[in-house]
Amino acid sequence: MKLFTVGPVEMYSDTLYVASKQLPYFRTKEFSDIVLDIQEKFLKLLKAPQEGKLILLTASGTGAMECAVMNGTCSKDKILIINGGGFGRRFCEICQIHHLNYECLNLKFGESLTEDKLMKFSGKGITKLLVNVHETSTGQLYDLQMIGNFCKENNISLIVDAVSSFLVDYIDMEKMNVDMIFTGSQKALALSPGLACIAINPKMERFIMENNVESLYFDLKPYLVNMKRGQTPFTPAVGVILELKDRLDNLYNYGIDFIVAEHKNKADYFRNEIIKLGLTLPNYPLSNGLTPIIFTNGKAYETFLEIKEKYDMMLTPNGGELADKVLRVGHMGNLTKEDYDNLIKCLKEVL
Ligand SMILES: *Cc1c(COP(=O)(O)O)cnc(C)c1O
Repeated sequence: MKLFTVGPVEMYSDTLYVASKQLPYFRTKEFSDIVLDIQEKFLKLLKAPQEGKLILLTASGTGAMECAVMNGTCSKDKILIINGGGFGRRFCEICQIHHLNYECLNLKFGESLTEDKLMKFSGKGITKLLVNVHETSTGQLYDLQMIGNFCKENNISLIVDAVSSFLVDYIDMEKMNVDMIFTGSQKALALSPGLACIAINPKMERFIMENNVESLYFDLKPYLVNMKRGQTPFTPAVGVILELKDRLDNLYNYGIDFIVAEHKNKADYFRNEIIKLGLTLPNYPLSNGLTPIIFTNGKAYETFLEIKEKYDMMLTPNGGELADKVLRVGHMGNLTKEDYDNLIKCLKEVL
């Protein structure tokens, strides 16, 4: 089975090797050193500011979303959510559950986020902005520099879900005025699920240390205190942390520009072939993380099933109203041009 999914994705043989080992005990100097090294490399890949901090939270991406909202906002905030699909909606649900004061910039399927739409919220007293920079349900990539500029002009703190964007799309935390940003282990990092990485700048750190969060596990204050010595308050996903260390050591040698370019190459290559097949891509800007193929004949889900059953390849189907309309093909993890050539061949036969 070949995975063209967005998480879990095809893992690298080095990661599989690390995952096969006995786990160590973690309250040791050796493990602390590993965690501190992860912090340094992770923050560099994000172009985080000096004095930025990393939090390792044992949770899925959604756990990171909820944790970010609980710690990065408070009841006095007026929150704006960019809601352009399933993950934008999830931010809305989280804010609702936590009785937060929020409003949405809603985008219908196919609609791009433009500066005009954002500017309507200028001077409205917004204090926090939540965005899934790559809205994975549609593949739309929002212009993070544009959003960051808007936030700076309006004195808004910017909280970014980059779960499906870290490593595949270009992100510069400092230049794009991002205060808090997070990802999950099973997406482009191509690790086992279970670990969320949350990066913050000093301004957000100060906010968190003064915020009153009504949760034991999700209050980030003890995480920040423990991180000073490379530890976590509770038992973390020790195995995934070791996978992360191995992966970051490798990625770090290449540098973020090279890694993003590699993903872009794969996405561009596949998209060119898709267009030659007469299939349709959306008009909005796309992440390098996945290609959404539009099925005007309503056979997206049918095609997903056929490719899975007949060819042993797993594409990413959509749920809800887009189920028959959109089929997504991932560009994360251990996939090569040959894998895409094989997929194109199968798509040709099925169509
Ligand atoms: C996958 C994803 C999540 C949720 O991750 P889970 O690990 O499934 O909880 C959140 N945000 C975005 C943008 C994602 O792509």
